[in-house]
Amino acid sequence: MAIISENKTTAYVRYGNTQFRYAMIYVLVTFVVLTFLNIYSSESSQGLVYESKKSSMVEKCLLAGNEIANLDILNTTSAASVVSQMGNLNVDRIIITNQSGLAVYDSYADNNAVGRYVLFPEIVQAMNGNDVFTMQPQNGIIKSHAATPVVSYGTLIGCVYIMEYDADQGALLKSLQDNVFTITLILEIAVLLFSLIYSHIFSGRLQRIMNSMRIIQEGDYSHKVNMGGHDELTFLGDKFNDLTERLQSSERKRSQFVSDASHELKTPLASIKLLSDSILQNNMDMETVREFVEDIGNEADRLNRMTQKLLSLSRIESQEDGDCEIVSIVPTTERVVRMLSAIAEKNEITIETNLEDDCSILILEDDLYQIIFNLVENGIKYNTHGGKLNILLCKEEDNAVLRVTDTGVGIPEDALSHVFERFYRVDKARSRQSGGSGLGLSIVRNMVERNNGTIQVESVVGIGSTFTVTFPIFDTEEDNLT
Ligand code: ADP
Repeated sequence: MAIISENKTTAYVRYGNTQFRYAMIYVLVTFVVLTFLNIYSSESSQGLVYESKKSSMVEKCLLAGNEIANLDILNTTSAASVVSQMGNLNVDRIIITNQSGLAVYDSYADNNAVGRYVLFPEIVQAMNGNDVFTMQPQNGIIKSHAATPVVSYGTLIGCVYIMEYDADQGALLKSLQDNVFTITLILEIAVLLFSLIYSHIFSGRLQRIMNSMRIIQEGDYSHKVNMGGHDELTFLGDKFNDLTERLQSSERKRSQFVSDASHELKTPLASIKLLSDSILQNNMDMETVREFVEDIGNEADRLNRMTQKLLSLSRIESQEDGDCEIVSIVPTTERVVRMLSAIAEKNEITIETNLEDDCSILILEDDLYQIIFNLVENGIKYNTHGGKLNILLCKEEDNAVLRVTDTGVGIPEDALSHVFERFYRVDKARSRQSGGSGLGLSIVRNMVERNNGTIQVESVVGIGSTFTVTFPIFDTEEDNLT
């Protein structure tokens, strides 16, 4: 996260611009591939020209050589007559030597070699019995040489050498190579520009996310990042927005909780302050003072209960998932009933238990106790004198179902969806009078859901309410645990 608080330049210096690096690697790879293609195409076109020239020139040498081999005597006149009989050979120079390499015919007028030993490498190799061909493309001209030995009745009697300058094919080859080179260069520049533009756009989009992270870090949770497009970065942007939305909602809940909690804690504190001020300022008789002090005690008890429940809530929220043990529901339910039977008796409420099947579930025993205690306590608190409370435990498929039904005041339909919210009370006065904090059911729902359970409420005003809690049964054998 350090990157967010730094400015853009420092961040790049420290972390490097990854996208720019990728773009450069991309350019380098394309450069190598295009250069290879360039060299390959120019070499193969040159190879094609080489092969076609070789076959035509060596053939011309062999043709001339055949004619010479049929001569009775090889001299300048007979060689010249062979060359003139062959017509237009379409070559720039033809030299015919005798068996010792002495030129007997040379088509060149200038620098004529007749009567001299000609030691061209091609002639030397031909005198050794080989057909020779060489080719050098130079500045748009192809210069080719070919030489073949002349053999008559198994004896070397001389050699034929021809040389050719081809400007047409040379120009064609050169223009082909130049074109390939120009196309390669244009492609390279295009790839470079494209990579730089793409890298700039991509970095810009990443920068947008980084800016948004900085804005969120500064506390503006309502900020949204708009990535545009339809790629992984768009997906990242959407996920980022989901995350900030959740952050915003949990931040809203947190501050709502703090304000509700302070409000709830303020009321008993204000009562305590008012009562104690009244005792100090008025000249009261002992009986009234006693009543006021009793009220102070009640308010202090309420504060105590509320802080206990707040602590309980924060304990559940900080509790790590996976903190649990195998617990039987029946003994815990019976413990709760024993604990609350005195209050029930005081309010003339009969508690019936139908604990049909005992089941084990995965939960912390303290949590299960708290869940059942809060539901049964509410069933007593919000019941009518002489009312009934039924606790039913049964198995339904793979679930343990615990139903707490009372014949109490009931909950109005529009309040049903709110009873699990923190500090919500249907009848504030009644709840306060019975020592309620508005936190009991929210603690219950939190604990139930943390342990993979569900909770539902059904109620009819004036008839009663039923709270149904469901937990998956823990089967020791099936779940392969002991
Ligand atoms: P409290 O501490 O006020 O009881 P709870 O979170 O346990 O807080 O319950 C929230 C509100 O739901 C209560 O104030 C009460 O109005 C209503 N309520 C809960 N249980 C019952 C019930 N069994 N019958 C009728 N109303 C109930």
